[in-house]
Amino acid sequence: MSYNNKQFLIIQMIWIGISIGISLTISMLVPFPFSLVAIIGIFILLNFYMRKRMMSRMAGGRGVGMFGSMSSMFEDNSLNYYCMTCGTKHKEAACPNCGSKMKRVGS
Ligand SMILES: [Zn+2]
Repeated sequence: MSYNNKQFLIIQMIWIGISIGISLTISMLVPFPFSLVAIIGIFILLNFYMRKRMMSRMAGGRGVGMFGSMSSMFEDNSLNYYCMTCGTKHKEAACPNCGSKMKRVGS
């Protein structure tokens, strides 16, 4: 357990280092107001990428800490999609029953 925590901390430190490096590079290359926008954008992307990586690493994937609940928030959507033409409940891009791409959201 302590090994995993240590490993997690090291990974976090590496990511902080990478983040600082990226922000410094951007602030040198791009003028101020744009650099801030770029840095925020990259941070959001990095965060998203990190979560995806961590989720795929975790056995089971969901229900584990903050990342698990975040992932289940997106995966276990209580929303259902119904075909607007024939009313079939589906999650495909097109209706498996009639092939219509028109769908409505229901719960
Ligand atoms: Zn249909």
